[in-house]
Amino acid sequence: MSNQNAFELDRAANMKTRPLSVAIIGAGAGGLCMAVKLRQSGLEDITIFEKAASVGGTWRDNTYPGSGCDVPSFLYSYSFEPKLDWSRRFAAQPEIEAYFQHVEKKYRLTPKIRFNTEIDSASFDEATGLWTLVTRSGETHKANVLVSGTGQLNRPAYPDIPGRENFKGIMFHSARWDHAADLAGKRVAVVGSGASAIQFVPEIAPRVGKLILFQRTPNWVVPKDDRPYTQEELSLFKRFPILVKIQRAMIYLTLERNWFAFKKPGNFFNNLFRKAAMKEIEEHIKDPALRAKLVPDYPPGCKRILISNDWYPAIARPNVDVVTDRVARITATGVVTAEGVEHPVDAIIFATGFESTTFLAPMKITGLRGRDLNEAWARGAEAHRGVAVAGFPNFFMLYGPNTNLGHNSIIFMIEAQVRYIATCISALRNARVSYIDVKAESMRAFNEALQKDIGQTVWAAGCNSWYKTEDGKITNNWSGSTLRFWWEMREPDFQEYRLVG
Ligand code: NAP
Repeated sequence: MSNQNAFELDRAANMKTRPLSVAIIGAGAGGLCMAVKLRQSGLEDITIFEKAASVGGTWRDNTYPGSGCDVPSFLYSYSFEPKLDWSRRFAAQPEIEAYFQHVEKKYRLTPKIRFNTEIDSASFDEATGLWTLVTRSGETHKANVLVSGTGQLNRPAYPDIPGRENFKGIMFHSARWDHAADLAGKRVAVVGSGASAIQFVPEIAPRVGKLILFQRTPNWVVPKDDRPYTQEELSLFKRFPILVKIQRAMIYLTLERNWFAFKKPGNFFNNLFRKAAMKEIEEHIKDPALRAKLVPDYPPGCKRILISNDWYPAIARPNVDVVTDRVARITATGVVTAEGVEHPVDAIIFATGFESTTFLAPMKITGLRGRDLNEAWARGAEAHRGVAVAGFPNFFMLYGPNTNLGHNSIIFMIEAQVRYIATCISALRNARVSYIDVKAESMRAFNEALQKDIGQTVWAAGCNSWYKTEDGKITNNWSGSTLRFWWEMREPDFQEYRLVG
């Protein structure tokens, strides 16, 4: 049996079902959502493996000052669990982390989570149709289905700068903020000027002695339409939750419209971002030499467009210097640039992003005939509709390859993936189906079309970014609108899969 008709016939004939077990890796936004939806479908044999001691994923890890989401909170939350009392339009990290903790408690997921348990490897056995997971401490766990919810931004990337290990001062990555480190009055080097840097630099600049920003590439930064909600608004939201739904829909549509800016570099909508960012630079940066350093030479959106109201004012502070010369090495006491200038500093903060294109590494995932996922992805990760990989049966990913966005909420994308995966898993309840595996030709056709589409977008417009591999393959972003993704993911086409008994 290997086609949709067979599956549908089985279903219509009240197929014989079997119990299923599902292992989920990661208790972040993806893993929690998957667990909630599986439980609601009646599946209880779920184990979530979480390497840390609490839930929240990136919202647990990124505790740097000023950390927050650049998608308005009414949309950066699950459709099935609206929060009526977000304190502001763009909530900060503690409130977002608390939201995911609330979801964990409300949906009684805690007993399903194995905290402080990191998965090292997982391998599929064709004979039994089972995955065997091995934890860091060597324990094994078997499950019919494996779902990875590790996302794209969970492992901090440290730059390969010679001498890093010799530095004698304070040194950490923004995603592992050292809250015990006292930066007051200190000379602080910040390496990197992306989404994380633009949030914490304005927070620390007023209290450090000197801040030297080592900027490799400038970003397009546009204003952030943020403010706290008033007491009156909050009580209205509480009395009339429909208002929150309306706000959510309006935010969604406004952000979705921004997709047109990404479709092609230099189009009308793309230029609106350029104009908005240039206006900010002109308003806040009076020094022409500094201005020249801050204007990107690539179209808006090629790298993620950043939103902030306090980035340029922080950069214009007298105690902040922007150094665009390449960082050549780190000494015991400072940072040396390629021009040979040494900048003595007391602290170095790496705001250098994440290992975004290697997805599930360093985990070793082994599929049919001993195939290693990291090897299969040696020339750049790819998946079928972002969720499945041919040769890796009963294995699904959340926020996997080519599911990232530059313009809308990842939670929306995750919910579409969860719905799709849950339906695939329901096919496995059929006692005659041992495993489901996407056909190699379906996956190939999907990715050929996707790469052709994505080649037209702003992401391919000649900049480097965390969306692509060193060879330039765009492995992280979805090539279309979220509406299109939602439409294509509303249910699996089982013709694209082998259902093997
Ligand atoms: P990022 O945007 O990838 O920025 C990394 C920065 O480090 C870039 O400026 C990069 O320069 C620089 N860099 C990397 N290696 C370097 C080296 N060897 N020498 C000098 N500079 C180096 O990373 P991020 O700021 O952590 O943000 C990553 C993503 O996380 C965001 O795009 C976003 O999706 C998410 N995020 C979201 C929020 C939010 O919602 N507000 C906040 C934080 C993070 P180049 O540009 O030249 O590569």
